[in-house]
Amino acid sequence: MKIRIDVLGIGFDSLSMDEAIDRALSAMEGRSSKYIVTPNPEIVMLCRENGELMSAVNEAFMVLPDGIGIVHGARILGTPLKQKISGIDFAQALFSPMAEKKMSVFLLGAAEGIAEEAGNVLSSRFSGLQISGTNDGFFKEEENESIIQRINSASPDLLLVCLGSPKQELWMRENAEKLKVGLMAGLGGSLDVFSGNVKRAPKVFQKLGLEWFHRLIKQPSRAKRMTNLPKFAFAVIGRRLKGK
Ligand code: UDP
Repeated sequence: MKIRIDVLGIGFDSLSMDEAIDRALSAMEGRSSKYIVTPNPEIVMLCRENGELMSAVNEAFMVLPDGIGIVHGARILGTPLKQKISGIDFAQALFSPMAEKKMSVFLLGAAEGIAEEAGNVLSSRFSGLQISGTNDGFFKEEENESIIQRINSASPDLLLVCLGSPKQELWMRENAEKLKVGLMAGLGGSLDVFSGNVKRAPKVFQKLGLEWFHRLIKQPSRAKRMTNLPKFAFAVIGRRLKGK
């Protein structure tokens, strides 16, 4: 049985980056089409309003804490997590051993053309990594089956599902049984970052745990969604005061 650390109803795996990578590589070798999710505080709050999303997240093979807020939350609740593992850092750390073993990745998500651009960048940055296919993330319901067939004939070791939350988590759970891939990971806006279309926060913001602030000033349209951040902090403190 997996022991997970509860943060407001989501069970997180307490792992170092190396442990998470080892687990992912063994799952890929087992080719079980399991999926990984990387919730941040915004997604934890979305889960509290959406039971389907909450089960999709909790049923994942690995639940990694994306965002320093989750790490602070777990500490405040008296059950610390080993470290923050953001989805994008995790994917980059995974691509190195995958490239050495000439393993393959299929990129699903983002606006038209972005997944291809991301694929070009990744295959030149991680020499040996095979890009076995790409598809944008704005397909219609009736195209779903043909996309699954394309993914299955490409038979990738890793499928990155970058459709944003809650779409990507629900899609992975819904389609896991039909998919023939090593492993899947739901990685939100990572293809926009890999392709160079969206810049990550400068290192100093990352170190200070202020990536969320950088995102807010760069993408003010996220402001409404980000009101979930103080709500998350209050909910954690409330839970702590109630003695959990
Ligand atoms: N996206 C997509 N299909 C959709 C809606 C969104 O492929 O139907 C993509 C969007 O283009 C972006 C990513 O999903 O690349 C969501 O990025 P965001 O930064 O919002 O990720 P989140 O914070 O939800 O993880």
